[in-house]
Amino acid sequence: MSKYNITLIPGDGIGPELADAAKRCVDALGLDIKWDVMEAGLGTIEKCKTPLPARTLDSIRKNKVAIKGPITTPVGTGFRSVNVELRKTLDLYACLRPCKTYEGVRSKYDKIDLVIVRENTEDLYAGIEFEEGLKDTKDLIATLEKMSGKIIKPNSAISIKPISVEGTERIVKFAFEYALKNNRKLVTAVHKANIMKFTDGLFLEVAREVAKGYEGRIAFEDRIVDNMCMQLVRKPEDYDVLVLPNLYGDIISDLAAGLVGGLGVAPGANIGDGIAVFEPTHGSAPKYKGMNKTNPTAIILSAVLMLKYIGEEKKAEVLEDAVASVIRERKFVTYDMKEKRDDPAAVGTREMADAIIRKIIG
Ligand code: NAD
Repeated sequence: MSKYNITLIPGDGIGPELADAAKRCVDALGLDIKWDVMEAGLGTIEKCKTPLPARTLDSIRKNKVAIKGPITTPVGTGFRSVNVELRKTLDLYACLRPCKTYEGVRSKYDKIDLVIVRENTEDLYAGIEFEEGLKDTKDLIATLEKMSGKIIKPNSAISIKPISVEGTERIVKFAFEYALKNNRKLVTAVHKANIMKFTDGLFLEVAREVAKGYEGRIAFEDRIVDNMCMQLVRKPEDYDVLVLPNLYGDIISDLAAGLVGGLGVAPGANIGDGIAVFEPTHGSAPKYKGMNKTNPTAIILSAVLMLKYIGEEKKAEVLEDAVASVIRERKFVTYDMKEKRDDPAAVGTREMADAIIRKIIG
């Protein structure tokens, strides 16, 4: 029996080539891993009539750890996003996105080391929406007008923003526990409580309450989301771990990815209680499918997060150092890491992974 059983979901678009690169890099570390390769995405729709087959979900439930390539959300087919479905079904309530500058990456900033902790299940992303013009929507508008004493234009669509005490408590605790384990010093809660006094107000109030339990160990502060954007662009080095409700977390994650060199280098993880799915922040970039062109860094750094999660800190460090060293040398890197995007010296996905593997095996 292997020491680790890990579900590997190659995904679609550029997913399979990136997943292969990540698997080869992890295998080069010499760990005893049995990969449970499972399908999801566009390729399974015809075969299984769903982009997320039950056996794929079962495998993640059994192994408790998975790494996945990106998956396309088909437009106009009635299929929901596999990514949203996974997060909901497995209650992966925390989206973890470390954003760190590596020497050699093209970015206007250096020495950034931020961690974004985004709530993954609530807020305006809960999927509770009412379409303009429908009878239910009109009834809802009438009820809301009666209850609030405010006027809502009759041709409005409505989205609901639930933010709960339990949901906030667990995500803020997650951020503080992550800070403790990873030797971080400061957690900043991000909100718009000055305007949304009840939903964001609750988020802030609960965050303050949770922070009391970490007093003297981890510092706490809060920022209004618009000000946070400005602060991150002006002096990102002042921030450490940010914890945010779903929508602000989604937006600030991309902002932070931009600070450290773009989507090609931004890893991520979706984590629940005792279960985790690791994946790059970027999508399936269909136009580059099968071209051996895109950057494997984000998925390989997601594998670094995965190794830390399963307790293989040393191996995680070896892999991260190998990636950092290849990026620093700027020789075996993909097009997006070059000064000019059409630089003929850019290598492919496979060749960049090979260079990382050469660093690992010495
Ligand atoms: P995308 O991230 O797939 O691509 C946007 C652009 O970013 C690409 O055209 C490419 O120029 C660049 N890019 C992305 N990844 C790169 C990499 N590894 N190396 C170099 N360049 C890279 O975003 P999109 O076009 O908005 O989405 C495409 C599909 O992916 C959609 O169906 C979307 O729903 C899906 N998606 C999936 C996930 C996920 O699986 N978690 C996340 C985001 C988007």
